[in-house]
Amino acid sequence: MRTLVKNGLIVTMDAKQTILKNGCILFEDDTITYIGQQTFNNEVDRVIDVKGNIIMPGLINTHGHSPMVLLRGIGDDLPLQTWLEQKMWPIERKFKEEHIYLGAQLAIIEMLRSGTTAYLDMYIFMDVVAEAVKKLGIRASLTRGIIGYGSNDEKEQKLKEAMSFAKRWNHQADGRITTMMSPHSAYTCSPDYIKEIVSAAKEIEVPIHIHMSETATEVEENRQNYGVRPVEHLYKLGVFDSQALVAHAVHVNTEEIGILKDKGVKISHNPGSNLKLGSGIAPIPEMLEKGITVSLGTDGAASNNNLDLYEEMRLAATLHKGVQQDPTVIPAEAALQMATINGAKGLFIDQHVGSLEVGKKADFIVMDRQQAHFHPLYNPISQLVYTASSADVLDVFINGQQVVKNKEILTADEEKIIYEVKRLAEQWR
Ligand SMILES: [Zn+2]
Repeated sequence: MRTLVKNGLIVTMDAKQTILKNGCILFEDDTITYIGQQTFNNEVDRVIDVKGNIIMPGLINTHGHSPMVLLRGIGDDLPLQTWLEQKMWPIERKFKEEHIYLGAQLAIIEMLRSGTTAYLDMYIFMDVVAEAVKKLGIRASLTRGIIGYGSNDEKEQKLKEAMSFAKRWNHQADGRITTMMSPHSAYTCSPDYIKEIVSAAKEIEVPIHIHMSETATEVEENRQNYGVRPVEHLYKLGVFDSQALVAHAVHVNTEEIGILKDKGVKISHNPGSNLKLGSGIAPIPEMLEKGITVSLGTDGAASNNNLDLYEEMRLAATLHKGVQQDPTVIPAEAALQMATINGAKGLFIDQHVGSLEVGKKADFIVMDRQQAHFHPLYNPISQLVYTASSADVLDVFINGQQVVKNKEILTADEEKIIYEVKRLAEQWR
């Protein structure tokens, strides 16, 4: 099917950051075949007139644990380790498959409604998360997170499960799903176990995703236990020898940033979660200056407490200016890159998505610019970063399929899912 989306102010996020007034996008099935100002009349099957609204690439969330939406608001205002060990893990141990499926659907609805078209999910019971992704139409990089606690048998079982999941689901759901392997972190997995997971990832040719240097305590304990800081530790274990995406990297020094750059490690910056958990502020301007690919993540909704990438983008663009007392760091263009094309690079899917270009997949969103706060409109990129919010997202297309139309989810019964979540929360209260 050939679809024409016309009368858009198109922010492409291509290498030249091209912006087109009165532009149109033509896509055939899932792939963009034309972007420009040409007019097409009878040669298409479907025409969508966006009436001057902004068309931009969908946002990409490179770190999260979707079913944790069910824990939203439990145990706020606690430090990371206390929050994890005393609040999150005891409830998470009770999670059954049906809870994960429900939580994943709720999270995906929240993400789609706020303009996210691709996301990373590290959790357990990933088969049902993959089912939710398949059904709701989002694009995802999925990974069974491995926490190295338990007996040797249990650890072996977890590794097998993660590997077979990664093999089974890679490139499924019309190619929308890709997979990774994830040792949760250096503080929950022994060095030998991390090595095993890394060699498994190499064997099945998928990238590695891991939490790293999120808090100062974690770095200090790593030094006490292993004699080195987490970056050197993971470097020695071969984590960075394959494609690797690291979440947080809050407490990294200049030497470590050099190692991450040399090894081509991708970073997921999660400012909202890092601030809320009082973990610190990652040295993102220095990473960007060195040429590291930094993208944005929300982390789980229990530490954020939402999955809104517009918020993360604004935080990334303003937080570092305040910290460095320098308004020139992370300009709007860089923040929007972090939320789009860099996100695609972080998930290793940038040849398919992350910018609007011929040959890429039709993953884009339409932003309502008819409202007071969008006027006047001198610079669309500035407006998207400093003025817009997720409430302005009208329509969402992924792989050429419309999944949100005029703020309404087309692929799931939102009301029913919210009802079921409310019922579950009543039981848990
Ligand atoms: Zn996380």
